[in-house]
Amino acid sequence: MDVSGFAAWRHAEGARNEDRNREREGRVPRIYPFRSSPSFYLPAIAHRAGGSIVGGMTQNAPLFIDAAFDSGNIEVLSVDGPNATLAIGRDKDSDFFQWFHFRVAGAAGRELTLRITGLNASAYPGGWPGYRACVSPDRHNWFRADTDWDASEDGGTLTIRHQPAGDLVWFAYFAPYSQERHADLIADTAGYPGVGHGVLGYSLDGRAIDVLTLGEGPREVWLIGRQHPGESMAEWWMEGALDLLTDPADPHGRLLRSACRFHVVPNCNPDGSFRGHLRTNAAGVNLNREWATPTVERSPEVVAIRGAMDATGVDFCIDVHGDEAIPAVFMAGFEGIPGLTETQLEGYRRYLAILERRTPDFQTRLGYPVAGPGRANLSMATNQIAQRFGAVAMTLEMPFKDNDDLPCADFGWSPERSRLLARGCLAALAEWLG
Ligand code: ZN
Repeated sequence: MDVSGFAAWRHAEGARNEDRNREREGRVPRIYPFRSSPSFYLPAIAHRAGGSIVGGMTQNAPLFIDAAFDSGNIEVLSVDGPNATLAIGRDKDSDFFQWFHFRVAGAAGRELTLRITGLNASAYPGGWPGYRACVSPDRHNWFRADTDWDASEDGGTLTIRHQPAGDLVWFAYFAPYSQERHADLIADTAGYPGVGHGVLGYSLDGRAIDVLTLGEGPREVWLIGRQHPGESMAEWWMEGALDLLTDPADPHGRLLRSACRFHVVPNCNPDGSFRGHLRTNAAGVNLNREWATPTVERSPEVVAIRGAMDATGVDFCIDVHGDEAIPAVFMAGFEGIPGLTETQLEGYRRYLAILERRTPDFQTRLGYPVAGPGRANLSMATNQIAQRFGAVAMTLEMPFKDNDDLPCADFGWSPERSRLLARGCLAALAEWLG
């Protein structure tokens, strides 16, 4: 890089540090109990609700629960004082549901009991035992709330108990990654010298499928995330990956940029993300079952991404996901593809061994069953990419729950741990390349 190029890097780095500082400030919970003086207006509400005022508060005033915002999803069945009975809406034109994200207003000082019912019919009932809901006082900091699961109550009920300090509180299946944050990630990253931005195509709702490209090396590396939109940890992972790859001082970033050409698609399914879906796009289609024969009518997102891969070829690919049930980080490979080669398989296994050695958040004991010879589902991205390009491809799964080998009581698996895992994955790639 020449001198003016270095100056531009430093300028960009300064801007990024300012952003980080702002973000750190944002991480400090700004909780002002009763700051909006609920006693000022709650008497009127309590009167309508037939409630009573206790110490300037009412015990029976209704909660206000809504989800008509980016990635919001909840159905309010009933509210009784600080207790609510809820359900999760299905992904449009599909039977999948599991992702929730909603706001509770009028909560201050009260012990909330929120029951999400009917969950035995959710996409992954195995995701609820041992799961704790994510809760935020400010939409920046996401903690875990006391949560119980009872499969025999109201068709499977998750009960969240939480006493927020402020009037407002948000709950979600995992820390959301918003469309606005995605737009900022694209804008910030595309502004770095040496980073290219492209639009691979458009989703059914007309959202761009963004790709960021960087690096000057001969290896074609694709990182794709969030085919399943409710798996928001995938885009937190992408943030960590781009942070490392664009850092002029990071030794792994430097090595990787010289060895590889990176193509990063932080969000393959922006429509499902905005709509508050778990698993599908705007047409109710599971994109990770479209890779054999994608169509512009059902899965233009996959048409766009696979077409771009055909143009570049693929040497190495990580498809980033979250898993509802298994409390661990694990990888799924391509062992069952008909064109499997020893070199490919050895490359995959060697990568896993390096990653397992480098980060205590990754393990190989728990995971999915491995497909038998020739029995791979080629409609899934990892299998299709490994078969189509002879690539070392893999599906990375992070937990919605926690890594039980290294649990965190306050946060469970989190955005920060997702970002750090991305750094571990890229450092492992640097070592793997030799
Ligand atoms: Zn997934």
